[in-house]
Amino acid sequence: MSASSSVRSESPWVVAVQDLMRSTGSMRTLEDTWPAPEELSIPLLGIPAGSPVDVELRLESVHEGILATGTADAELVGECSRCLDPIRDGITVDLQELFITASDGDGDEERLVVHDTVDLEPVLRDAVVTALPFQPVCRPDCKGLCPDCGIRLEDAPPGHVHDQVDPRWAALSALSTMASSEHSDHADQTTSDETEKR
Ligand SMILES: [Zn+2]
Ligand SMILES: [Zn+2]
Repeated sequence: MSASSSVRSESPWVVAVQDLMRSTGSMRTLEDTWPAPEELSIPLLGIPAGSPVDVELRLESVHEGILATGTADAELVGECSRCLDPIRDGITVDLQELFITASDGDGDEERLVVHDTVDLEPVLRDAVVTALPFQPVCRPDCKGLCPDCGIRLEDAPPGHVHDQVDPRWAALSALSTMASSEHSDHADQTTSDETEKR
């Protein structure tokens, strides 16, 4: 049993709190940079494992155990769900958890003070995963890709707009597609995209 706890305690996210355990009301703050644990990500976006996470934490001895509050700052890496451009962005999450002093393991859901330590890794993971946007974007007004030809609308020449389809435009473009089908210059590779998105 002591072997497993010593392995786990190598993680900087496991913080020793024995100094606080003795007197309710005592508290201490810490500021440090710790490597990000694994799996702080959703499919398109996340904090790479091992990258630095700046932690500011306040540990407080309360009646039930240890109250940890603070923030964690890290860099996010991923890609935009609209235009697929790489995303590098900062993320700051609030950390807050009450670690219950283990008595006789009543609640499964509760986080416990184990061997006079508190494990902040699951607290960080929960905070990060809930804070990550379901569909990350490189910036809020990212125009994404043209639904018709797939080019990035940022890079498109002015007037390259398919997303405000005026009925007359639709009729015209249908006509021009028909007309240009024999000498189509740019419709060759993109026809499948076109039919899919419409
Ligand atoms: Zn984008
Ligand atoms: Zn287009």
